Amino acid sequence: MLFTELGLKENTLRGVLEVGYHTPTPVQEQVIPYVLNRRDIFGCAQTGTGKTASFTLPLLDILESGRARARMPRVLVLAPTRELANQVMDSFSTYGKYHKFNLVLTIGGESIYEQERKLAQGADVLIATPGRLLDLFDRGKIMLHALEIIVIDEADRMLDMGFIPDIEKIFSLIPEKRQTLMFSATVSPEVRKLSQMFLKDFVEVTV
Ligand code: AMP
Repeated sequence: MLFTELGLKENTLRGVLEVGYHTPTPVQEQVIPYVLNRRDIFGCAQTGTGKTASFTLPLLDILESGRARARMPRVLVLAPTRELANQVMDSFSTYGKYHKFNLVLTIGGESIYEQERKLAQGADVLIATPGRLLDLFDRGKIMLHALEIIVIDEADRMLDMGFIPDIEKIFSLIPEKRQTLMFSATVSPEVRKLSQMFLKDFVEVTV
């Protein structure tokens, strides 16, 4: 299987082929077509399997086919740690070389004012750790009612780090009609409960 067979558009393909990847990994092969078909997904995949590109590539494609409303975020990726949020940001910016989306990273431990300034310029894709996202929301700096897709990365670590109340709050702030993707390296009964709480009619992918 080649990347060119997954249904991705030209600009996205150029972004990934230029990095030198021609063959999708198993998780990418399975997840990308479902995301493009706008399904909710519960993906059980470890770091190192190529799971980040399995959502960043199709999300770039979906963003390209719609238009931002007043520059409010259309995609939100929640990551448990700053390191992971940075990796997701890098993935969007590398593969998104031929797209013109505003990517904004809002994570703890860095100046909130600088993040507010970037948000004010408009974010198409927001990549965040849960606590900082809620701080910015409470300060009136983030509007989530135009959100189309939410990604919860490393749900098992979100649980371990006590982020579930924050995530529940975030889900209460976003539109009911949306696409939800959740990834987890391990599947405990708690993680499964989360998937049942937040995903609708979802496809489960295990690699
Ligand atoms: P991840 O599992 O998302 O943390 O990705 C692990 C590593 O695999 C990253 O360094 C990616 O750049 C790399 N990678 C992602 N997709 C592919 C692919 N299709 N072929 C080769 N390497 C890839």
